[in-house]
Amino acid sequence: MAPSSTPAVPAARPRKARGEGQWALGHREPLNPNERIKKDDNPLNVRARIENIYAHGGFSSIDPQDLRGRFRWWGLYTQRKAGIDGGRTAVLEPHELEDEFFMLRVRVDGGALSLAQLRTIAEISREFGRDTADITDRQNIQLHWIRVEDVPEIWRRLEAVGLQTTEACGDCPRVVLGSPVAGVAADEVVDATPAIDEILKRYIGDPRYSNLPRKFKSQISWLADGPYETNDISLVGVVHPQHGPGFDLWVGGGLSTNPRLAERLGVWVPLEEIPDVWEGVVGIFRDYGYRRLRNRARLKFLLADWGVEKFREVLEKEYLGKALIDGPPPELPAKPIDHIGVHRQKDGLNYIGAAPVVGRTSGTQLARLADVVEEHGSDRVRLTAYQKLLVLDVADDKVESLIGGLRAIGLEARPSSWRRGTMACTGIEYCKLAIVETKARGEELVARLEERLKDFDADISIHINGCPNACARTQVADIGLKGQLVMNAHGEQVEGFQVHLGGGLGMAQGQTSGFGRKLRGLKATAEELPGYVEKLARNYLGDRASSDETFA
Ligand code: SF4
Repeated sequence: MAPSSTPAVPAARPRKARGEGQWALGHREPLNPNERIKKDDNPLNVRARIENIYAHGGFSSIDPQDLRGRFRWWGLYTQRKAGIDGGRTAVLEPHELEDEFFMLRVRVDGGALSLAQLRTIAEISREFGRDTADITDRQNIQLHWIRVEDVPEIWRRLEAVGLQTTEACGDCPRVVLGSPVAGVAADEVVDATPAIDEILKRYIGDPRYSNLPRKFKSQISWLADGPYETNDISLVGVVHPQHGPGFDLWVGGGLSTNPRLAERLGVWVPLEEIPDVWEGVVGIFRDYGYRRLRNRARLKFLLADWGVEKFREVLEKEYLGKALIDGPPPELPAKPIDHIGVHRQKDGLNYIGAAPVVGRTSGTQLARLADVVEEHGSDRVRLTAYQKLLVLDVADDKVESLIGGLRAIGLEARPSSWRRGTMACTGIEYCKLAIVETKARGEELVARLEERLKDFDADISIHINGCPNACARTQVADIGLKGQLVMNAHGEQVEGFQVHLGGGLGMAQGQTSGFGRKLRGLKATAEELPGYVEKLARNYLGDRASSDETFA
């Protein structure tokens, strides 16, 4: 028998604090292969190799570390080889999954495109990308089937019209979301576009900020008409009682497998100080962000550990060298704003929001769009974070004709609720991480619901995702669908979805936004999905007390 002084359970030995690879704490040695690739050579340097070596030597000449690592900093991912089912996604080696073609992401900061830019993207899509073009839910355009041999010429054409693919992917500051109606919205007090432009000019492609722990997502807009609670940094318009119009700062949002909504730091930032504050937040992320585990590297994990008070203090003392002004919360919209339909601009003209289906378009459609827009006297198109597009500056007497012109090319300014509310990520057609098909299923789903529930009068958002990464924001939809393999009635593993119900962003002030509930056992095979959603919609219609009652 042990002497009475001996504790029954041995005392735990004090744990040695394990470094998380935080540069500011002196941890500079790479802790995983991704960190190693970034340290060995700044990923921005890969551009010269693409231009001077790989474009001439072809796919087989590409160094694997560049191919699967640094290429992303220039918007390039290898696309998934056709015919590999989702069951093999997790078991195959990267080289077995990837094709010799690339997805190329064109960043469209603020979502703003001139017709010259739109036509250039259309032309590149048709000439080099087999006529593919998807509007993403980050206001980008993604092209597919791109060959490395063509990339320098594509860059030349894009850059000639002021577009770029710089840091469109990778562990760096991605596209900056803006309001698609910035500068024209009747209820906008300050246009945030100059701050976005300044950030692009100062920091995008800047080697000081091209090695972050993970991706860094931004939104800067007066109106809260994007997914402001899911970004690493968001600035949303607010009027301070003493200082006037400025922007409310949110940090640390992100979805994926550990979703977290951004939090307000409680500060008011004037327009001209936004670039400095943005740089300070990126600096904190670069220096204090966790670099050991990829799945704990987003800014949200640091914020969760620090809390907003410490975050603000470090931002002010170490990065800005001054205190920020306390600010009031902004007025938030009662539901997401997608700008579909016809709306009056502050100058008396109109903007018209139209919907493709699940963001899928083509070079041909974009070229026709440019023609239709030009015929109606406009030069401006905007992309939204809901995979939709807007035409600005339309005179009253051109509105109906433009709506007809859009309809004739497959873009609908008066879409069904289903077409309006449904988004889908890239999915198994091109994405190497996917488990299930998404775009084609989204199109089928919309068509079936339009047929079966023709006059459905409510807004229900449906976000279809091909895997747990939640690129199409699974957790903040009324019906969020996470792709996975499920058992069908015959006990076979087939493509299907885990269903999240009742999530939402931008809910009425006073209520909190929230994630949809992932209910145990709430799964549908891909085949069952249309019937399943139809049933949910009918139940909602039957149970709601009034037409104001939301699905959430
Ligand atoms: Fe690919 Fe998954 Fe993102 Fe869809 S959610 S684009 S399948 S990584």
